[in-house]
Amino acid sequence: MVEPRPGSTPPTPVTIAAPRRAVAAPAGPPARLGPVAAAAQTARTLAGEVGLAVNLQVTRRLPVSLVHFVTRRCNARCSFCFIDFDHPAQRHTELTVEEIDRLTRTVGPHLRNVNLTGGEPFLRRDLDRIVDSWYRNTAIESVYITSNGAFPDQVEDLARRVAADHPDRRLIVSFSIDGLPADHDRIRRVSGLFDKTMDSYHRARAAGANVTANIGITVSHENHSAVPELYRHLVEERGIRAVTAIVVRDEGVYAIPEDHRREILAAYRWLTERIGVDLRSGVLEGYDPATLQGRLMNRKNEMLWRIVADTYLEPRYVSPCHAARLFGVIDVDGTVHPCEVLDRPLGNLRDHDMDLGRVWASAAADETAHWIRDTRCHCSYECAWGFNILGNARYQPELLRAAIGR
Ligand code: SF4
Ligand code: SF4
Repeated sequence: MVEPRPGSTPPTPVTIAAPRRAVAAPAGPPARLGPVAAAAQTARTLAGEVGLAVNLQVTRRLPVSLVHFVTRRCNARCSFCFIDFDHPAQRHTELTVEEIDRLTRTVGPHLRNVNLTGGEPFLRRDLDRIVDSWYRNTAIESVYITSNGAFPDQVEDLARRVAADHPDRRLIVSFSIDGLPADHDRIRRVSGLFDKTMDSYHRARAAGANVTANIGITVSHENHSAVPELYRHLVEERGIRAVTAIVVRDEGVYAIPEDHRREILAAYRWLTERIGVDLRSGVLEGYDPATLQGRLMNRKNEMLWRIVADTYLEPRYVSPCHAARLFGVIDVDGTVHPCEVLDRPLGNLRDHDMDLGRVWASAAADETAHWIRDTRCHCSYECAWGFNILGNARYQPELLRAAIGR
């Protein structure tokens, strides 16, 4: 199946700590608790965090992050898209909002993020109800939506609703940009899309203190030579304050042209280094380096960029992958996959009463998790790497050094 490509899963929906601007703004002063109730609440919070840490580092039995494809429909036709839009199975298979509501009640206590993607998620008219179910029925901290930015009114509408209805949760909307305006519109085959995406970005950014807007650049054969100029244009001329980078990979109906691989890698290295520099200097907004968690997450991202770049030309096994354990992917028709790369479905939610817990605990999921471990499965899928770094002991010393400011 699937990809991270423009319009799709960005590298870091892992938000154990909040990016600076995304710190939730409580609607009013916190309600006063009596000493017993306050102590009980603190104990519950502590128990939850300890349980999450044990799950991340030891047991690895419950999902911490999910990617959820809410549609395969799209208004664009990007040259590198993995979706076979002509395949009849792409239509009439979407989970209904009622099915999604049932699903969200079964994801377990440790889920912290869900990434709603597509296709173009804002083509779903019931996207607000889907988002509401994820906030209402789970313990997630954030919903992350990837979009091509073609629908500024819908983006603003949703962002404002989340700001009003869920001020203690976060919404991150990441818009894909591939090139300077004319190139972007040509690559995506949608006239005027670049400007609409800028409009969507700024409207989302203005919607509320708990809403973050981001621009995601996927480095591909289409744009590698223009990446520096594109980055400068976005930051200096368009007022963009949050940028993430991913590197295109072979997937679905897309294959990287062989003669472009080295240039793609060089551009990805340039972009991630530049983002790192601009995050540290405050040109871009990111995790706050003044906080322990901010330093931890910034270092995790730097490690992720380094590992992906180091293994791009010559893919090799570096450390265990926790797909089907800590994270997974829900496809548009309810099929649950370990990740966006491996074609070993764990089961379909519709065959299990929309119960993700049952699919996650199934023999098929166990078999796949063992297969991933035993075959030393490896790839450059950034979402997986985010969790593999957080969940593997070998990376903890470097993360700890970052946490204490070294
Ligand atoms: S065609 Fe649509 S889903 Fe595919 S990459 Fe482009 S915007 Fe994303
Ligand atoms: S290493 Fe993990 S993310 Fe990559 S293909 Fe294997 S299971 Fe999927």
